[in-house]
Amino acid sequence: MNSLKPLYPTHQPRKLKVATVSLAGCFGCHMSFLDIDERLLELIEHIEFDRSPLTDIKQIGHCDLGLIEGGLCNSENVVVLKEFRAHCKTLVAVGACAINGGLPAQRNHLDLAQMLHDVYQSRPGMTVGSVIPNDPELPLPLNKVHPIHEVVHVDYFLPGCPPSADAFWQFLTDLMAGRTPHLGHGLMHYD
Ligand code: SF4
Repeated sequence: MNSLKPLYPTHQPRKLKVATVSLAGCFGCHMSFLDIDERLLELIEHIEFDRSPLTDIKQIGHCDLGLIEGGLCNSENVVVLKEFRAHCKTLVAVGACAINGGLPAQRNHLDLAQMLHDVYQSRPGMTVGSVIPNDPELPLPLNKVHPIHEVVHVDYFLPGCPPSADAFWQFLTDLMAGRTPHLGHGLMHYD
């Protein structure tokens, strides 16, 4: 893993600003993060959340840390990822989807147009005349699902589907203490 300047130096006690997002994710990584349970109370003494599914903040501000769940499956994912990279000193690919596309990337060997047709137009039970959703409000799907490191620089990768709560805890406490995160064998897994 890369080395990192202390994010939370002891001579300047202030709360670490953390933003989180789920791109083409299932929110399972966020749920695993919340699985740190009562340790959240300790964590909240040291961090404050910026934009996140856990807050109502719509626009990301300048942050120390950005946690990205999910890979990239549509145009909006790319815009949001670039915003996070521009606003976060340290960006972390959290979970298999952000790291290598994850299970959603299983669609990469299929033809996108055919998939959309199969799902929205030819599935049993569809109304006659059903069309593929085409409202301009909807983000356009990408031809392939991509891991986030193909679009922006990533500082750390936290593996697992999802990473365990203990892995989140170890990772975050290392960062808060200004240490390079080190999960060790027991907390490293990819499933
Ligand atoms: S890595 Fe696993 S738990 Fe996390 S978003 Fe992807 S599918 Fe969900």
